[in-house]
Amino acid sequence: MPIYEYQCGACDTKFELSRPVTEALQPATCPSGHDGARKLFSAFMTFSKGANGVLTAVSGGGGGCSSCGDKNCGSCGSSL
Ligand SMILES: [Zn+2]
Repeated sequence: MPIYEYQCGACDTKFELSRPVTEALQPATCPSGHDGARKLFSAFMTFSKGANGVLTAVSGGGGGCSSCGDKNCGSCGSSL
């Protein structure tokens, strides 16, 4: 299970949590018991600029091309 980093909006504490990918963006509870901690972007998260100019977050571990990390990879020759 991947580990995500969260920051509590109430006490500003940063903490890590291991959860399923499907729950990664859901609010977490900080070690002090505050609800609603938000997910931080991890070092594994990169941004790719789409054809429409919009920056899109691409998770290095969440599917797509294993070689270049592009979700719509057509340039590196890796088969999905
Ligand atoms: Zn807190």
